[in-house]
Amino acid sequence: MAKKDYYDVLGVNKTATAEEIKKAYRKMAIQYHPDKNPGDSSAEDKFKEAAEAYEVLSSADKKAKYDRFGHQASGGGQSYGGGGMNMDDIFSQFGDIFGGGGAASGFESFFGGSSRGGQRKGSNLRIKLKMSLDEIAHGVEKKVKVKKQVSCKSCGGNGAKNGTALQSCKHCNGTGQVKKVVNTMLGQMVSSGTCPICSGAGKIITDKCGTCYGDGVLSEEEVISIKIPAGVGEGMQLSMNGKGNMPAGGGYPGDLLIVIEEEEHLELKRDGINLIHDLYISFPDAVLGCSAEVPTIDGRVKIKIDPGTQSGKVLRIKDKGLKDVNSYQKGDQLIYVNIWTPKQVNNSEKEMMETLKNSLNFAPKPTKGDKSFFEKIKEYFN
Ligand SMILES: [Zn+2]
Ligand SMILES: [Zn+2]
Repeated sequence: MAKKDYYDVLGVNKTATAEEIKKAYRKMAIQYHPDKNPGDSSAEDKFKEAAEAYEVLSSADKKAKYDRFGHQASGGGQSYGGGGMNMDDIFSQFGDIFGGGGAASGFESFFGGSSRGGQRKGSNLRIKLKMSLDEIAHGVEKKVKVKKQVSCKSCGGNGAKNGTALQSCKHCNGTGQVKKVVNTMLGQMVSSGTCPICSGAGKIITDKCGTCYGDGVLSEEEVISIKIPAGVGEGMQLSMNGKGNMPAGGGYPGDLLIVIEEEEHLELKRDGINLIHDLYISFPDAVLGCSAEVPTIDGRVKIKIDPGTQSGKVLRIKDKGLKDVNSYQKGDQLIYVNIWTPKQVNNSEKEMMETLKNSLNFAPKPTKGDKSFFEKIKEYFN
C-alpha cells in the first residue's frame, strides 16, 4: 500500500511553519491517543501515522530530505521511511509537544498518565552540540550543562510531604477510572473515563511536599559529560539513556538526545570520510617544482610538488582523512593543486610574460591519454 503523504496525514500544506506542524500534530495526537480510544485499531493506526509524519516534518534535516525525495529518502537507519515507530518512540516525543520543558506536563495529565509496563518514562531532552573538525577527527569528551527535571529529594519523588505514603483515591477506589452514565438518543450508555480527582493515578496526595509542590520533580541544572566518538557528522543524533527528564509522579527518566552540528573549517572541506584542501601555488612553482605546506587534521605537513605539475592535479595523503564512525575505515586527505594567476602585473613582469608567451614550450600540448580534471576527480571517488 502506498504511503500517505506526511503533509496530508497532518492536514497541513507544504508551506506550514514548524509551529503549525506542531499544532496539527498535537491536535491529532489528542484525538487518536490510545488512552482515549481503547481497542480501536484504526485510531491507533492514525495515531502512529501522525507520529511518524511529525517525526519527519519536525526535523529540519529529515523534512528537507522528505521534500526532495519523498518516502524514498532513507533516514540513516532511523525509523523514518521504514515506517513503524514504536509506542515508546511516540510517547517520548511528547515532552517536546506537550508542555514547556516539564516532563509529563500537559499531555499525561490530560490523559491521566500513559503508563507502560507500570512505569512511566520521562520525556527526552534534545540538545545541539557544536563540534570543530579537529574534535570530529579525534573524538572528544564534552561537558554540557542541561536543565532538566530531576526527582525531588525532599519527598523521594512521590510528591507527598516527607515522602509519606499516598492515599488511595476514594473517588475511583484506587482504580484511576470512573464510569459515567450518559443519556443519548439511543438510551443510556455507560462509558469509562479517567478519574478527575486523581487524574488516573488511583492515588492522591493529601499533604503535598513543600519543595516540589506535589510534582515529585524539580527543574535542575546538571553538568553531563558526553563522549563523542571520532567521525560523527552534521545532523547525527546520539542518545544517552536515562539522562533526560524524570516524569512527574514517579517513573524513570527519558533520554538525552545529542544532535551534532559541524563547524566549518577554514582550510579543510569534508567529503564523507575524505578531507579536501585547495592548494594554490604560483606558476613558477608549478613549472620548477616546490615544497608546499598544507594543513591536515594532525597539523601542517610539507608536501613536494613535482616540476611540471598541471593545475588540477590531485594529490593524496593516505589515512589523513576522518575515521568512519561505524567501522575501522579511515579516509584520505586530497589536495587539489591550483595554479594562482595574478590579477595584475607590473611592467617588468609583463615583459617576462610576453617573452614566455613567445616561447613555443609554453603553448599547451595535451598529450593523448592525459586525463581531464573531472576524470581524475571521478577516479578518486570511485
Ligand atoms: Zn481517582
Ligand atoms: Zn518533593
